Amino acid sequence: MEKILIVDDSLVQSSQLKSILEDEYDITVAQRPEDGLRWASEGGFSLILLDVVMPGMDGFTLLKKLQEEIITQNVPVILITSLSNVANEQRGLILGAVDYITKPFKPLIVKARVNTHIRLYQYRKLAEQQSMTDQLTGVANRRRYEQYSETKWSEAIRLHVPLSICMFDIDHFKMYNDTFGHPAGDKVIAAVAQTASSHLKRNTDFLARYGGEEFVALSLGEPAEQMFQHLMKIRQAIEGLHIPHNPSVSEWVTVSVGGVTVIPEKGQDYGFYLKIADAMLYDAKKNGRNQVILADEKLKPLRERG
Ligand SMILES: [Mg+2]
Repeated sequence: MEKILIVDDSLVQSSQLKSILEDEYDITVAQRPEDGLRWASEGGFSLILLDVVMPGMDGFTLLKKLQEEIITQNVPVILITSLSNVANEQRGLILGAVDYITKPFKPLIVKARVNTHIRLYQYRKLAEQQSMTDQLTGVANRRRYEQYSETKWSEAIRLHVPLSICMFDIDHFKMYNDTFGHPAGDKVIAAVAQTASSHLKRNTDFLARYGGEEFVALSLGEPAEQMFQHLMKIRQAIEGLHIPHNPSVSEWVTVSVGGVTVIPEKGQDYGFYLKIADAMLYDAKKNGRNQVILADEKLKPLRERG
């Protein structure tokens, strides 16, 4: 059930709105604008119904504040105005409210406007999600990765915790495609993504398709030694899928993994560490593939083999 926040100082008015909408929506009522702002900032609402005339902070001021916050700036706001006040409606729409409803409320009109804006919001969210997802594998795409890595890098600096940047690459993938064809190759990419993502389920983990047969994983808060163990499990799980490869190169489909764990400080460059992860991957390939090499916090490589 989608969540709607009603911010209105009048108990009578907010109760009316609530009773009109509560069959279809999960309604929260804030009678004080400050509460409204705080709850809205906690996230999760798909629509805000906002009274214009309130003591302390009026609806316009609150609307401005909602638009300044990342969490709330895309949540549609419908203003509640009185029938006689056209100037308020105009001002509200100029400030970015998506619509307005007038008192006294007509239940059918309230429902229709609310439904419309909830549906538009859902559609927009879906479209946004799709534009961030890799079609073949269902994991995040490169674009989402670019955003996410930036956010997590800052977070790791602020919290002073380790961030691991790890590259996965399917071994001898060109040979696989040449032997079994591209549709089979696509299936392998999807299977590898699924297995890796099933091992990267914590909300501090992230996996994206970096391109072709290459994936990038980010993990926040885990020291190198633990991350290394975790990566080996993923590598083993992928080998354990027992997808037959061309026997001239390998019995099963496998991956090589290269990464780095860093506790970043202000002024350091993410790109520098990404290059190290890439160098570790290159090393893993050169060293015979199907293995993990992770540079630890002191840039000392932890190696699975020799
Ligand atoms: Mg009022």
